[in-house]
This record gives sequence, C-alpha cells and structure tokens, in this order.
Amino acid sequence: MEYKGNPVSEGVAVGKVYLYQPYVPQAVEGEIPEGEAPAAIARYESLLAAAKEELAEIRRRLEAAGNGDKAKIFTAHNDILFDVAMDEEIRDKIEYDFMTPEWAIHKVYEKFIKLLSKAKDDLIRERVADLRDVKNRLLRIAAGVPEKNLAALEEPVIVVAHDLLPSDTATLDRERVLALVTEVGGATSHSAIIARSYEIPALLGVDGILSKLAHGQEAAVDAIAGVLVADPDPEVKAGFAKKREDFLRRRAEEKKFLPLPPKMADGTVLPVHLNLGSASDQELAGAAYTDGVGLFRTEFIYMGKEQLPTEEEQYEIYKKILTAFGDRPVTLRTLDIGGDKKLQCMELPVEENPFLGNRALRLCFSMPEVFLTQLRAALRASVHGNLWIMFPMVGSLDDIRRAKGFVETAKKQLEERGVPYSKDVKIGIMIEIPSIALIADLAAKEVDFASIGTNDLTQYATAVDRMNPALREYYQSYHPALFRLIGYVIESFAKEGKPVSVCGEMGGDPYAAAVLAGLGISKLSMGLASVARIKKLLSGLTMEKARELAGKARSLPTGQEVESYLKAQLEPLL
Ligand code: PEP
Ligand code: MG
Repeated sequence: MEYKGNPVSEGVAVGKVYLYQPYVPQAVEGEIPEGEAPAAIARYESLLAAAKEELAEIRRRLEAAGNGDKAKIFTAHNDILFDVAMDEEIRDKIEYDFMTPEWAIHKVYEKFIKLLSKAKDDLIRERVADLRDVKNRLLRIAAGVPEKNLAALEEPVIVVAHDLLPSDTATLDRERVLALVTEVGGATSHSAIIARSYEIPALLGVDGILSKLAHGQEAAVDAIAGVLVADPDPEVKAGFAKKREDFLRRRAEEKKFLPLPPKMADGTVLPVHLNLGSASDQELAGAAYTDGVGLFRTEFIYMGKEQLPTEEEQYEIYKKILTAFGDRPVTLRTLDIGGDKKLQCMELPVEENPFLGNRALRLCFSMPEVFLTQLRAALRASVHGNLWIMFPMVGSLDDIRRAKGFVETAKKQLEERGVPYSKDVKIGIMIEIPSIALIADLAAKEVDFASIGTNDLTQYATAVDRMNPALREYYQSYHPALFRLIGYVIESFAKEGKPVSVCGEMGGDPYAAAVLAGLGISKLSMGLASVARIKKLLSGLTMEKARELAGKARSLPTGQEVESYLKAQLEPLL
C-alpha cells in the first residue's frame, strides 16, 4: 500500500514502524476498604519501584548513546519520584483518607503542580512539566500500560505519530529515528523544523496513517517524493536503498558548500540568512555559515510552557542570539500564534476560521501587556547586536502604524526605567497577506524592510489551508500569481531603497530561490539544513540566467508548468 505525505525534511529510509501514541492516564476517584491500607501502601511502593526501574533503564540507554545531558532530565524525575514531602502526603492520603494509590498520587501531584505554577522563579515553574511526566508515568504503570518514549528507542525505527509535542522532540533519540511520519503538520510545523535541523527524513500530513499501519510492520519512506510504502517487496526495497545512497552522496557533496560565501557564478553575492526556532547551541551553530538571522520564530519560546515567558527570560534568549551574530542583522519576529500554532500557557479563542481569525499581530494588539513585554525584552537586548524587529500577519497600514505605536510605548517604558536600548533598531513587516503585498509601494514608505512569508502568502493568495493534507495539490508554491506578487513587492521596496527577503520555505527551495534571485530579492533566509544546497545552487547560477527564469515563472500559465520548467532548467546545477 502507498500513502502520500508532505516531504518536509529530505531523506529516504526503510525500517520497522514504531507507532507512537502517548498514553494519557486519567485518574479516577477511588477509595479502599478500611483495613486494606497496608496492601495499598505496598502497591504504591511497587509503582515507585517500577517507575524507578524504567527511569534507570532510560538513563542507561541515553548514557550509552552519549546523551548525558538528556539523561540528567531523568535523574531529576527520579528525585521527584522520591521527594520526601510528596511521598509523605501520598502515604498519608492512602493510610488515613483511604484513597486508592492512583487517586492519592493524582491529588498530591496536582497540588504541587498548582503550587509550582505560581512560582516567580522560571526554573521552578519549568519543573511543572517534569512533575506531570512523573505523575503520568506512575499512573500509566498502575494501569498496566507499557512505556512509550521517544527518548530511548531500542532499535532504529520509523516513528509514526499523530503529531509530536515539543517535549517529545526535545528528548528525541535522534540516532535511532530513521524517519518521522505524522498525520498532521506542514512544512513549518514544529515537528518539521526539528526534523530538518536533526536531518531526519520526515513525511508529514499523512492522513489517518496511525490506523493504517501496525507497530513493527515494515515500511519504506521516501521523504523526497513524499510517499510511504507499507510492506515493501524486495524490489521496492532495493529501489529505496539506491535512492538513499544517491541522496546521501548528494548531501555529502552539498555539505562542501556550507562554509563558502553565497556567491553566484558571475560574482554577485546574495546573502543567505538563517531561520531560527530557538537559541540552542545546535541551532546557533549556523552562525558560522550565514550572514544573519532572517527569521527568529519567537513563538517557540512560548510553546510547551505553563506560563508566559517573562521579560527577563526573553531578554536572555534574544541577547544570546544577538551576541552570537555580532554586527550581522538578527530579525526577530514578534509573537505569531493562532492558526496552526497553539500555546499551552494561553487560552486562545475558539474560532470557525482560525487562519483568518484573531492571530499573530491581531492577537498581540488584543493583549497589550504580552506584546509590550516582548518588545521591551527585544529592545533591551538590542544593545548586544544588530536587531531588526519584524511584525507577522500585517494586512494594512493601520496594522503597521499601530504596531509601531507599541514599539514607541515599549521604548518609553524602558526610558522611564532608565534601561538603555539601541537607537538603530530596524522595523519591518512580513508580507504574507495579499492585501499588504498589493500596496507594497505604500508599505515601503512606512518601514525599514520586509520579508516575504511565502508559506502564508501561498495559503492566502490561493485560498488553500496550508495544513490540510487533502488539499496538497492546490497548495502550489510555484503558482505564477505568487511570483507576480513577490516581484511587485521587491520592485516597490527597491524604489524606496529598502531590502526585501524571503523567509518562508521558498527561500530554502532551490527552484524557487533561483527565481527569487532573478526577481531581485535582497537576501534569502532558511533553516540550516538548506544552506549548503542553496549556496551550491547559487555557485552555478548567473544573474542573467536567474532573470530569465524569473521572467518565465511570471509568465507561464500554471504552477505545474512553472515547476516542470524550473526543474528541467536547474537539475544540472543541483
Ligand atoms: C511564512 O508564513 O512563510 C512564515 C515564514 O511564517 P510561518 O511559517 O511561521 O507562518
Ligand atoms: Mg507565516
């Protein structure tokens, strides 16, 4: 059987399927008969022992794989398991209130979770997720459900899940994940970004795949063409093995371009910037090969948290990135949530059409304190480097003026506190709503720069939900309408002498990048995984050729024809 998906991180793999469906235990209120407290205490102790054993096993595997850092998380979980205060309360509840061990565990853990959630100290608040994890482990063991954890896989597998949470990806055993397949998520989902940065082949948006595969079944994943084959026969397997070999050879060849300057064949330099989702050392390693940060998706700071990140916490993150890039520009996009991006620490309104709803900048306008906290943190960090602030989902000049008003307020607040900030911070917008693209000439007068968010621009210009796997054929990144819109934006900003970049997925797609170069883009921004490939492409491309491609991309009648044309023209350079 063959299934189609969205190939968001290139690669090819054949292996066993690991169905990842995390068990979320539900605690049920329960009492034990009087006189059975000693037996219930014994049962509680056996749960502790089993949990301790599981944690030790995970730690052992992580340490053996050289992941000492991740192993520490599970040492902390062991400490929680035997925390004296919680342990004593649980025992009391079983012994004197006749609660079942499960109910007692639930009550006591929830009490401590509530307490910690209110703590001022960020580090203490972050322990809430750990408490939840330990509580779930105990209740899962009590329910007799075996452990499923991506942190310590026994063998290399193809992970198949509905979606992955940031906590899953943070501890992902990357050496043993051959490929990642999920039912939801597009090229810009959290799972996609992590898969690319770990270089794990990933196929997302494979509708209903969890119910179609069995744990342990063999599968072949082609995350270049976008297919998964269940139970591949020997011939199919041989084909996949060959494709994998070719892919790895090509990737090794491309890697040679990583440290080189982004120079075109005629000497034109087209700066290559980095898209970041965090300030981790792993992501910041890209600073050695890029000319700046074209997009820092700050919403990732807010994800997987019980509480909103504080000004101080954000300031430290922004400072780390700005410092890593020295005088090179760091473009920080203000909070962009809603639509496909949800937050645990914030209740978002339930809407009929979330992608057209109260999201991103609009949401920030409706929560002034959240917006101002972020802007103050960013402005404070601006003294450590070259900060560019960028607003997402701008639809009109009203949006621009209102957002700039918030920046002025944040500056005033810092001045009142006597806190310094750089006077050279640039202010820009994302172009991802057609209405602002069509008045780019007017917008260019009000801001210092723009960056085109092609993921959303494609979605809004073609009226196709970027997350809906059933509509994949309609989501056409090579639609000539997009190249016309982008061309107009670039020309309009060029008239004002202001730079435009692309930070959507098109920036890191070599076929689209060649057209963007020809349209006169000032820079391209992409995840680290695409940098080497784009530099290789540029090295073989002249501006004259790029202009020819751009002319065709704007004039050919269909997206399909543009795509075939670009592939035929550019294949020899890749
Ligand atoms: C985009 O829309 O192209 C973009 C870069 O933003 P995001 O993918 O985070 O919505
Ligand atoms: Mg967007």
